[in-house]
Amino acid sequence: MTVALLGAFGRVRVAAEQYMDERDRAGLGWVEESVTDIAVHKGLPEVRVVQFNRQQEGGGVGADYLWWWLDQTSGECFGMLVQAKRLNRAANRWTVDIGHRDGKQLGDLSRTASQFEVPAMFAVYTGGQLFRRDLPCIHDKDPDCLSCRRMAISIISAYQLWTNWESPADTATMVLNDSIPLESLVDPALGAGTVWDVNLPAITSAELRSFLLHDQQGPREIAKRIFEAVARQRAMSFSAAIAETITIASAPIFPVVPRDTGHYPNSYFEHFLRGLRTSPPPYVRDIQENRPMPPAVASRVAGVILINI
Ligand SMILES: [Zn+2]
Repeated sequence: MTVALLGAFGRVRVAAEQYMDERDRAGLGWVEESVTDIAVHKGLPEVRVVQFNRQQEGGGVGADYLWWWLDQTSGECFGMLVQAKRLNRAANRWTVDIGHRDGKQLGDLSRTASQFEVPAMFAVYTGGQLFRRDLPCIHDKDPDCLSCRRMAISIISAYQLWTNWESPADTATMVLNDSIPLESLVDPALGAGTVWDVNLPAITSAELRSFLLHDQQGPREIAKRIFEAVARQRAMSFSAAIAETITIASAPIFPVVPRDTGHYPNSYFEHFLRGLRTSPPPYVRDIQENRPMPPAVASRVAGVILINI
């Protein structure tokens, strides 16, 4: 986690904000794909984007990117499938609609994430300063509050939004309260701290206990900041943890994790920690070595974003 990487995502956010503000000032509005296109390359060289042909335009994957956080020294990495969404305003309510086609889009995102063995995430564009001018600042009340501005691109998992997807207003409330600003995900001054997961007492793996209890670096820390938000939500659902475990396939850093599903569709440990690997999947190496992308990857996502951390 470096200041340079924080700066890279800062450039992405500023470009996105400026574009959303320009379009709103002109009364034109904006869509997710355009914001991504205008901003994503501003993160170079720390954040590298590879875009594929938009073969699936209209098919629901036009806005999905595979993100891989890579530690070049250890080879460890963390992957996540990220779908871009936007905050909307309907009458006097804020909304985020993740339930397109009666929830089919959410199901597709979840299925694709399973195929790639990574968690399903959303990057929500919450607008420029003009669009969000009526949203109250919950931070330091500075008119140019940096924490508010960082929220322009906010990251939240599909699992956190799972039970409320039919209500765009409830989804927006959760996004505004529980998402992580993209820059805060990589800010070296912040940290996930200790994750008091409800399953912690039953976890016997020393490595997994250490991951939850102690400070982490690199891809492990990114995974932990995302997982912490889910573990916190899980702790509030009051259903009891269970002691059974489940084994993650492929090349996981933590091969055996609690099977507990809470109120989620599957084991949330497996869903998130399957993205945390000892080495990158073959298609990431293909990109790094400038080989063509296998159709199985290029036909399912709009592109891949590689982040050296
Ligand atoms: Zn603020």
